[in-house]
Amino acid sequence: MSASWEEVLASCLQLAAKPATESMAGAWALGRVLARPVVSDRDYPTGNLSMMDGYAVAALTDEPLRVEGENRPGTGPGAPLIPGTARRIFTGAELPAGAGRVVPQELIAMEGDRLRIVTKSEDPFVRPRGSEGRAGETVLPVGTRLGAVELAILATVGTREIEVTTRPRVAHLVTGDEVMGRHERGEPGPRIRDSNSDLVAATLRGIGQMVTDHRRAPDRRDETCRLVAEMAADCEMLLISGGASVGDHDHARAALEAAGFRFEAHGLEVRPGKPVGLARRGDQWAIALPGNPVSHLVALHLFVLPMLLALEGAPLAGPRLMRGVLDGPVSRITPKRDTFWPTVAAWRDENWWLKPCRFLSSGDLFGVAGANALILLRAGAAVPLPGDPVFFLSLAPEFANA
Ligand code: AMP
Ligand code: MG
Repeated sequence: MSASWEEVLASCLQLAAKPATESMAGAWALGRVLARPVVSDRDYPTGNLSMMDGYAVAALTDEPLRVEGENRPGTGPGAPLIPGTARRIFTGAELPAGAGRVVPQELIAMEGDRLRIVTKSEDPFVRPRGSEGRAGETVLPVGTRLGAVELAILATVGTREIEVTTRPRVAHLVTGDEVMGRHERGEPGPRIRDSNSDLVAATLRGIGQMVTDHRRAPDRRDETCRLVAEMAADCEMLLISGGASVGDHDHARAALEAAGFRFEAHGLEVRPGKPVGLARRGDQWAIALPGNPVSHLVALHLFVLPMLLALEGAPLAGPRLMRGVLDGPVSRITPKRDTFWPTVAAWRDENWWLKPCRFLSSGDLFGVAGANALILLRAGAAVPLPGDPVFFLSLAPEFANA
């Protein structure tokens, strides 16, 4: 059974359960997802603040004004403005009562000890009290992922403890008789070094998540079943690398079914990565990933990251397609499957230019070095030529849920 990857992903994202929540210090919450809104502790700005260095005045006037006193940031509004005077004021300082605007110092001239407004600007150069946020108003809603700007907002409103969602625990099982640990003794030849574990771990780190349990299994059904049962006891997401297909030595599917997982989809119309399978046991998920490195890369970004973000309570979103221009040749569009062609995207002349990577096969990891995006070549469509517009998916985590 094969299904459209977009439909499968959309329905699995819908089925993803809401995560638990925990409280933590806001300063440590970079990358976390808010489970309770953050509200403003007071009005912002806290007073009517000057946007310029200049003079606070009651209104624009042709009359010369005597300069009386000085307001500096952090010292409050001071005494009310005396009619017929101006108050020296600096950026960020509060206007005195009776002042309606600020005249920047570039727009005045001093005549003796009197000030004259030379250029009358319509702009009052004031940030009015409460214009950016009112006391009790939500400044960060539930579901917000906390980046640098959001941490700065927490600091502004003085929030120390916040409620965030818990991150899913991700177990990763690497299968294959031919796979050896990268520091294992012995010559690679018939055997190959495990690169998928680093690919998975590093990809998860990009969204601030991590593998919490990592093991290796030989291509034996009994052993795969035992490990799957054991690892599934203690995670929200179980990733299995390799053995996802239907060959005699592929046991991921059988082991997951034996452990009580039911497949939402198995075999998707994508290239590379067709054997990928998504399975569920209650609120737990498992994704079987084909072992070849480029298939792994594509399946991680198409399915694993969106599901892990959903399990962390981020607003549901599938991969976002962006528009670019093909900057080299691609080939081999299959009639039934959407192809994701690894590419290096670079911004030039107001366009994303997409240089296709070498893609000899889904085993060609070296060809993919430097890839930061995947070009989407729709099933059955004509092969685009260099200079043609194409859609692509960024591999940058910032775009995974934008
Ligand atoms: P499989 O999906 O198990 O049929 O694996 C397909 C191919 O992917 C294998 O023949 C290996 O060349 C490669 N492969 C499987 N597991 C890994 C791994 N952990 N690291 C690197 N390559 C792998
Ligand atoms: Mg295998």
